[in-house]
Amino acid sequence: MIKAVFFDIDDTLYDTSGFARLARRAALNVMIDAGLPLTTDEAYLLLREIIDEYGSNYDKHFNILTKRVFGEEKPLLIALGMITYHNVKFALLRLFPQTTKTLIYLKAQGYNLGVISNGITIKQWEKLIRLDLHHFFDYVITSEEAGVVKPDKKIFEVALQKMGATAEESVMIGNKFSEDIMGALNSGISAILVNSQLEEQDKEYLEKNNIKIDVISHIGELKDIL
Ligand SMILES: [Mg+2]
Repeated sequence: MIKAVFFDIDDTLYDTSGFARLARRAALNVMIDAGLPLTTDEAYLLLREIIDEYGSNYDKHFNILTKRVFGEEKPLLIALGMITYHNVKFALLRLFPQTTKTLIYLKAQGYNLGVISNGITIKQWEKLIRLDLHHFFDYVITSEEAGVVKPDKKIFEVALQKMGATAEESVMIGNKFSEDIMGALNSGISAILVNSQLEEQDKEYLEKNNIKIDVISHIGELKDIL
């Protein structure tokens, strides 16, 4: 009997990757316009390298970028990039179709809802507030708070404890097999994969261990399962 439903945020509730890519390219174009001597593709490649190196939650990607290109930081370009990135990202911020409707349905069914997310607590709350979803969730548990990232079992244990639910009473919904699904399964929580496909090695793992998980193509399909 499921009582608690946990969600990942990024690329589960909204299209994080798609919007971030557009916002980064828009920011770089404004920086190029103001004197960054690269093409959009060159600048994007360099920015991707910096993000991979420093992590997506680091907040000085544009500082590093100007330092690599000019040998020193360029405050005007950095500010232009940051402002454009945030404006474009927030202007484009949209939930995946049927997300709100599905959360209303789950609440009406009596489930407790939570978030388990790799990220910075305030930033993740900011996303939920901007997406107008913050009222739906009883608890938001982040890797910053738990001190470990998914798929580490500890973040799931912290979430269960906060929610007052056992693993057997809980289900995790997320888009990343290696983080959301494996982390949940290793903690004894059932899992539903959304917005992505099972890779061959994932299928082999599930078969070998005799585990069955639901795979849904969008969040609206949760109504047929829960
Ligand atoms: Mg995700």
